[in-house]
Amino acid sequence: MSESQEFRSVLIVDDVPVNIQVLAEALRADYRVRIAANGPKALAIAASDDPPDIILLDVMMPEMDGYEVCRRLKNVPETKNIPVIFVTAKSSSEDEALGLNLGAVDYISKPFSIPVVKARVRTQIQLKIRTEMLEKLALVDGLTGIANRRSFDQSLEHEWKRASRNALPISVVMVDIDHFKHYNDNYGHGAGDICLQQVAGALRSVVQRPADMVARYGGEEFAALLPETDSQGAERIASAMREAVANLKLPHAHSPVANHVTVSLGHATGFATVDTSPLALVDAADGAIYKAKDTGRNRVQAAAN
Ligand code: GH3
Ligand code: MG
Ligand code: MG
Repeated sequence: MSESQEFRSVLIVDDVPVNIQVLAEALRADYRVRIAANGPKALAIAASDDPPDIILLDVMMPEMDGYEVCRRLKNVPETKNIPVIFVTAKSSSEDEALGLNLGAVDYISKPFSIPVVKARVRTQIQLKIRTEMLEKLALVDGLTGIANRRSFDQSLEHEWKRASRNALPISVVMVDIDHFKHYNDNYGHGAGDICLQQVAGALRSVVQRPADMVARYGGEEFAALLPETDSQGAERIASAMREAVANLKLPHAHSPVANHVTVSLGHATGFATVDTSPLALVDAADGAIYKAKDTGRNRVQAAAN
């Protein structure tokens, strides 16, 4: 991801046009500048599909003051992580403490110095870019570059809630490499790692819909999340995954199953309800894997329902 600040957006909130002008002039060269002349407008922009990266917030405004705007921003999950800097003539340390305690990241007193405003905005934007990068990294498996288990669990929870609102099915496919211990023992751990990367790529090549997800669930186990997919659809995807891995033709001379790397797959489908957990779905798909292993490996098994 780029650390560039270009195209990052700054929302300036102030009821006095000349204040907006001065700040906009100072920041226009480096950011996409947006403006709101009152609190309600600022809240609407913050909650929109295109929220700002940072908000410069005046305190004294008619209708709704900046403290109240900040309070409301921090109360809503969708807007609470947008950094707020107060820019205000209320410059007593009590005012400053109040603003910071409401969750603002910085507090700039009027009259302000343009270079100081620019520097402080830049610092906060850089912090935000770093935080976003770390959040992204925390959801990616370091070896294979696909989603990790934490990311899978989060998406499963999210899709389960969505499915429960719309009465739609949701499927999970669990995938486990056959005799991978032998593979490591014979080709070495480094080759095993490369094998995992290639299997991850093959699995990912099979799922097409934007909401589908393939994750590394554990060591040599992968999981696919398939929203709005019934049991037949899951069977189709699982079969395509089995074939995609077999077609890699990664030599596995010591596998009792085939002369190349194969996987066993289990899938389960459920209808979400608000008061049930999606973990049963993972358990059911995982249980089906054991049956696939018991009955020969390199095959797809649907969970009993
Ligand atoms: P089965 O067909 O029953 O699944 O047999 P298996 O050998 O694949 O299963 P087992 O669970 O006994 O062994 C899994 C192996 O996966 C053992 C472990 O060393 C290996 N493994 C797990 N994570 C990694 C990894 O990140 N890199 C490598 N190279 N190997 C890994
Ligand atoms: Mg295993
Ligand atoms: Mg295995």
